Amino acid sequence: MFGTIASNLASNTDNLTTPLTINGERLMQMMTEVGAIGALPNGGVRRLAFSPEDREARQLVQSWMEAAGMTVTIDAAANLIGRYEGRFPHAPALVTGSHLDTVPNAGIYDGTYGVLAGVEIARTLHDHGMRPDHPIEVIVFADEERTMIGSKAMAGKAKLDPNFYDHPHYEPIEIGLNYIGGDWSNLPSAQRNTDGLAAFVELHVEQGPVLEAAGSPMGLVTGIVGQRRYLIDIEGQASHAGTTPMAMRQDALVAASQVILAVNRIGQKTGDGYGDQVATVGAMKLSPNVANTIPGRVEMTLDIRDLSNQRLDAMMAELEQEMGAIATHTDTQIHLKLQLRNEPIPVSSHIYNTIAQVCEHLELPVQSLPSRASHDAQIIASITDMGMIFVPSQGGISHSETEYTSPEHCIQGANILLHTLLELDQHYRCPEAMDDITHSTTGDTPRAI
Ligand SMILES: [Zn+2]
Repeated sequence: MFGTIASNLASNTDNLTTPLTINGERLMQMMTEVGAIGALPNGGVRRLAFSPEDREARQLVQSWMEAAGMTVTIDAAANLIGRYEGRFPHAPALVTGSHLDTVPNAGIYDGTYGVLAGVEIARTLHDHGMRPDHPIEVIVFADEERTMIGSKAMAGKAKLDPNFYDHPHYEPIEIGLNYIGGDWSNLPSAQRNTDGLAAFVELHVEQGPVLEAAGSPMGLVTGIVGQRRYLIDIEGQASHAGTTPMAMRQDALVAASQVILAVNRIGQKTGDGYGDQVATVGAMKLSPNVANTIPGRVEMTLDIRDLSNQRLDAMMAELEQEMGAIATHTDTQIHLKLQLRNEPIPVSSHIYNTIAQVCEHLELPVQSLPSRASHDAQIIASITDMGMIFVPSQGGISHSETEYTSPEHCIQGANILLHTLLELDQHYRCPEAMDDITHSTTGDTPRAI
């Protein structure tokens, strides 16, 4: 009863000496065409979520999805979902995708690349008349850059009060969402059932300099780092800069300077599990901030990120100890207040290993690295197994008009994603496929690392 339209995918995935490849020229042509929507004069793009440009780009991508034989729907959270049916319609979907919205002065690759690589994969399967066991979905998540409303609604994590997303520079979210095809009043309906999803793999530009510095291998993402943001409040005593002897001062800025150096030192620590962490003091408010007065108070931010909560705890324990010593010898008081805490999100070890094996078969060099930027993948990880592939970003630059990834790397990344999905198609078994005599089960169970 099954399998009448199936190509023998196994022969295409097992025999990687002549691997199936996507149409690289077509992928880069799609990149150019989407990049032209909201193009800036200096080569970048501005395609803010819910803008006319966002809507236009989504419509263009929808037309390519349809040309690839996909069924296209837009859920209540305005996620644009292209579904390429598999041999077994009730099998959980293998999902890829990213976002088409951009920051105000963006490059053409961030988000768009992952979406179009997914669309190109569907077009390739369609061209070859290939039908995987599982459906393959390509999702354009709504508003990744500001609210992540699309992926959050899909994971059942969106706030239902639109005022939560209010921002003075943006129109109300329910208006924007509805403008690109969503339905705010029905937002909970966008939540996906875990049973309907087999895996999510996001392909993205690195947005950092690590891969290029390593000779531009493909990036095997180990997880998305946890982030903690604090307010550091230092209280000293404002007083006359001329009349107060040096030994009798309570200079909040001197204390702050020492804290900044401690933060930087802890951020640069290596060995003993350290090395991937980052730590930044990025903003500071000084008062009274006048030339002839000793600074009485400093408020500054601290942002720390790492893949391990244990290491983040250890970094903070060390910093708090140092801050205690600094407060004592500068005669100030230092208070620390947690303002934001995002947990680290590890990738599925099974997907990670699958990507690594695919890269080995395709003879592409790889480097493991954490993602230090946020992605829809970290939200979707709460409802299915998640993995990520990075391609090198020239100069490590992103969220800038000068963002660039070579066509060669774009095409390689898309081929890795194609074969990762095909390999996963053989791994995740649906009951119907288990009965199918052309396949054998592996019994493997994906685990989180
Ligand atoms: Zn992105």
